[in-house]
Amino acid sequence: MKRRTVKFRTYLLLANAFSLAAILAVLFYCYSHMLLKASAFAWLGGATVAAGALSFLLHVMLTHPLERAIARIGEASAQIASGSLGTEVPIVGPAEFRLLAEQFNAMSRQLKESFDRIARSEAARGELVANVAHDLRTPLALLQSHSEALLDGIVEEEETVRSYLNVIRKETVRLGELVKDLFDLSRLDAGAESFEARAVPLEDVLVDTLNAYRLKLENKRLEVSVQLPEASPIVLGVESELRRIVGNLLDNGIRHSPIGGRLVWSVEPEGETAVAVTLRDEGEGIPEAERERIFERFYRSDSARRRDEGGAGLGLAIAKSLVGRHGGTIGVASRPGEGSEFRFTLRTASGKAR
Ligand code: ADP
Repeated sequence: MKRRTVKFRTYLLLANAFSLAAILAVLFYCYSHMLLKASAFAWLGGATVAAGALSFLLHVMLTHPLERAIARIGEASAQIASGSLGTEVPIVGPAEFRLLAEQFNAMSRQLKESFDRIARSEAARGELVANVAHDLRTPLALLQSHSEALLDGIVEEEETVRSYLNVIRKETVRLGELVKDLFDLSRLDAGAESFEARAVPLEDVLVDTLNAYRLKLENKRLEVSVQLPEASPIVLGVESELRRIVGNLLDNGIRHSPIGGRLVWSVEPEGETAVAVTLRDEGEGIPEAERERIFERFYRSDSARRRDEGGAGLGLAIAKSLVGRHGGTIGVASRPGEGSEFRFTLRTASGKAR
């Protein structure tokens, strides 16, 4: 059943008609009870009807813009409902209607922002799942094929068995690292880690990390030097996270360096309250088009993919996220064919060096 709707203007006009009828009824009552003379009744009645007609006309004229303002909000709501998020209405008319239009526009903008955010995070989540699935597939397939070959007795020679076991170990380590990286990233995204910054001697972080990577450095016969300001800086941060940033950059530096290459850590003051930490390598360098992208999750250059070494492309994303948590920035400069220079900033404790 179709519901009958009464227009806003009709309500106002009816109210006007009722008040007019009430005045006329009172006049008639006075006249019929001899409280008013016929001439006075005619006079007052005529004046009331004339005033009523004028008021009727004014109502029609004044309610028109109000009706239009309401209709505009109705149309914009319908557009939003049909998917045109962010639709806005002009801010015109009396104060209450301007306020309503402003609030409507703010609501519409917020709705659009929320939907955009959801769409972005949905897309990122989809990409993350696809990348994780892809990065899990290769090591899992290798683990399956190599363990089956060993179990079925297809390989028997001791040397081949050892090489198969080596592949299994290498892939297991890789899987473990991937899972750890993903876990760390999801914790960082969720903001689950509390951030309790302390004063940390930067030199200790650099030296300890170099010690942890000693074997890898020796395997490639790399020469490493550390250049610190005279007063070795104390930075403000979480020590384990600082080690992770430095470790991720060093790991990449080692991997991309040629045998017998040089790696240089240098620390310089950055203004009054910060230091810039730089790692320079003599690797193949990074083409300009890739320099922004390498900090994205799962981004690996084609050459890195071809060599099939290294992680899943999460190391720099984690470093960037951690540097951001410390209130710093990270970036890279590079000359393809000559090397790269990764640089990040950290705040110094008390704004002064040691
Ligand atoms: P992964 O090392 O696991 O590939 P990262 O996030 O650490 O992931 O690095 C992303 C990409 O950045 C690497 O695949 C590589 O192409 C490039 N890259 C990182 N460090 C260097 C470096 N020192 N020299 C050249 N390329 C680098």
